[in-house]
Amino acid sequence: MNTYKLLTPGPLTTTETVRKEMMFDHCTWDDDYKAITQKIRKQLLELAHVSEEDYTVVLMQGSGSFGVESVLTSVIDKEDKLLIIANGAYGERMEDIAVHAGIPYVAYDEVYYKIPDAGRVEEILKKDPSITHVAMVHSETTSGILNDIQAVGKVVKEHGCTFIVDAMSSFGGVDIPVKEWGIDFIISSANKCIQGVPGFSFIIADRQKLIESEGKARSLSLDLYDQWKTMNKDGKWRFTSPTHVVLAFSRALDEMMEEGGISARSKRYYDNNRLLIHRMKEMGIETYIGEEHQGPIITTFLYPENHKFSFQEMYQYIKDRGYAIYPGKVTEADTFRIGNIGEIYEEDIEKVCAIIKEFLEDK
Ligand SMILES: *Cc1c(COP(=O)(O)O)cnc(C)c1O
Repeated sequence: MNTYKLLTPGPLTTTETVRKEMMFDHCTWDDDYKAITQKIRKQLLELAHVSEEDYTVVLMQGSGSFGVESVLTSVIDKEDKLLIIANGAYGERMEDIAVHAGIPYVAYDEVYYKIPDAGRVEEILKKDPSITHVAMVHSETTSGILNDIQAVGKVVKEHGCTFIVDAMSSFGGVDIPVKEWGIDFIISSANKCIQGVPGFSFIIADRQKLIESEGKARSLSLDLYDQWKTMNKDGKWRFTSPTHVVLAFSRALDEMMEEGGISARSKRYYDNNRLLIHRMKEMGIETYIGEEHQGPIITTFLYPENHKFSFQEMYQYIKDRGYAIYPGKVTEADTFRIGNIGEIYEEDIEKVCAIIKEFLEDK
């Protein structure tokens, strides 16, 4: 088998020990298995810097979008109104979810290379007191920009609204004091910065607000409250859970603690990211996002001027030498992306940059 490492924002390269955890078919009714679910829920609360009295964790089958859709369709009532802040494809996906579910919403759409402005959010909330919920993305994986959820959270709290954050590609890789920043529901998934494999998402929820959402869900399978009610009893999932993925995730969490928790992981990701940007700059390849708001997860690069190769050509050349990169996703510029999360170290960044240099010299 020809293997390569993933320089993509998830699924990402995991450790062999995480993958090995999946070589066992666990029984879902078993007490040991239910205890693993409870252990995971506890560890996630710790990573979010919140207590069990204030917050609680729900694990939800499916990819990350299922988690976002579960929150949006479960906690917003028919009489409520949602403000969606979007500066990339994942913010826009929330708008799509709202359209599909018939959730009353308004949108604040920002251009992809700028972070949404907290002052602007304040104006919108002032003008429209019927807004009850605000949702936004933290690390917009579309571009790699890191949005200021702390500043927006402050404004949202001042207006007494509920704050929902899609921290899919940042949770665990960037430290987020969830309560301190006024976040009521934060969503991430197994296959991003915790470095597990794909199969479920998780929601860290303000306990009281979750309880208040009882009976509001528009979907049966994605009913956040119902999922929690069952899981909170003893760790039993409501419907069939991705057992192998759960085992791998539990191991991934332990390995994260061994590495030194969020601070150590965040430092590794930042170091990878800054080295990558530095090496690319040496080759004349610039970033799409300005330095101030460039996040540590994934970077969008502009092609060198007058380039005569296709993404497919470059992708194949790099893949043949051991790494998979990502095509661009911003609409208004010709770009490609390189992620630096997962079991990736500075030596990988040096290697992939050397491969790109060789490729460019060949052209
Ligand atoms: C990965 C990701 C998602 C979820 O995508 P899925 O393909 O459903 O896992 C949502 N939001 C952001 C910001 C992401 O990076």
